[in-house]
Amino acid sequence: MAETLPDAEIIAVGSELLTPARLDTNSLYLTEKLNALGVEVVRKTIVGDDRERLAATVRECSRAARLVILTGGLGPTEDDVTRDAVALATGRESRVNEDVLGWLVNRFERMGRKMAEINKRQSYILDGAEVLPNPNGTAPGQWIDHDGTILMLLPGPSRELKPMFEQECLPRLERILPKQIIRTLFYRVAGMGESDLDALIAPVYTRYTNPVTTILAAAGDIQIHLRARCETASEAESLLAEVAPQIETLLGERIYSKDGSALEAVAGNLLRERQQTIAVAENCTGGMLGERISSVPGSSNYFVGGFVTYTERMKTELLGVAADLLEAHTAVSEEVARAMAEGARQRTGATYALSVTGIAGPDGSSEATPAGTVFLALAGPDGTTARKFRFPGDRERVRGFAVQTALDMLRRAMLRAPAPDSWRAC
Ligand code: AMP
Ligand code: MG
Repeated sequence: MAETLPDAEIIAVGSELLTPARLDTNSLYLTEKLNALGVEVVRKTIVGDDRERLAATVRECSRAARLVILTGGLGPTEDDVTRDAVALATGRESRVNEDVLGWLVNRFERMGRKMAEINKRQSYILDGAEVLPNPNGTAPGQWIDHDGTILMLLPGPSRELKPMFEQECLPRLERILPKQIIRTLFYRVAGMGESDLDALIAPVYTRYTNPVTTILAAAGDIQIHLRARCETASEAESLLAEVAPQIETLLGERIYSKDGSALEAVAGNLLRERQQTIAVAENCTGGMLGERISSVPGSSNYFVGGFVTYTERMKTELLGVAADLLEAHTAVSEEVARAMAEGARQRTGATYALSVTGIAGPDGSSEATPAGTVFLALAGPDGTTARKFRFPGDRERVRGFAVQTALDMLRRAMLRAPAPDSWRAC
């Protein structure tokens, strides 16, 4: 088993990041890079341009973690307080570094400008810090080993931060971190809710701390990540090889991808392999299903087109849904879902046609068909299947569930996989 890795804290500095106008995106980038090294980010803090507050945060974070990464506040102006705050927190002096000053003056000269006096502030380096050159801006970064805690002071603009992190920080981190090999597995699952999935696979993954399992859920789409960290690749691979088959057996055909591919790409590939085609008829998703299918490069090989039919007249004229069927059952019904799918299939000549009709809400709800009620139908060479769903959430979530589930119906039909328990046949 590998030596434990240090934890990291990220501090994003800048008052603008505390307004609704600006998001701290740097920490997402940094987290991704650190995770790839096996380092966990245990906390992210956003602090405004306030020297004392930032110094207090730096003190606290340095006690809690061995890696503390600050981004922002290295500019030349009065509100850029990171250098001073770290000096205050660590008790180190910050003074002009002649090399950095020379480089700064030179940089301005090369650009045909005279360096303003305030830019001199950017040549202040803390005692004991290593200077991290910034080829893309005027603020050099700093790397400080303070009583066993590494503090990194990095610029705020991402076009300066990213190259500096990659060129300066990554090699230093690789040198100081215990050797780690990370192997990951990534499953995408459809046809069950997050809590059902967790109940099913938790008995397996909770027995292991390595690999670490994370579950991320979106409407009708769950991602499972398994991350094994070891000293050697073969150790990591054998840990995954122990856990993965157990999870795969439990989930079966609910796993639709093991390489991160989206459901529309997986279903599209199956169509392509079989030289089959698909058409869609949409009532409450307004073209979202067609959009998902067509977002895959090369989808024009199997996507023949679609109908967005909201009024009864459009359903009748474009899809041939009988007026008396609509009269008898209303547009949001199993019968109309079937007729829409069959009409789309017949009028386009596609191998399969999917239809969606439902109440996305919040309007249009009734006792018989509350918001979230959606009928999906698939017409294909083996006949037509229709299903009734009651999706949770607001309008966007209901529509997201409807599209994802429709694509999964198509995938399962092609694989001849059974419907999951959560689906009810009409
Ligand atoms: P600073 O280094 O604090 O002067 O920041 C310069 C610019 O970088 C800011 O105006 C922001 O546009 C951007 N910036 C700073 N911090 C972040 C962050 N955490 N995430 C995204 N952008 C940032
Ligand atoms: Mg700032």
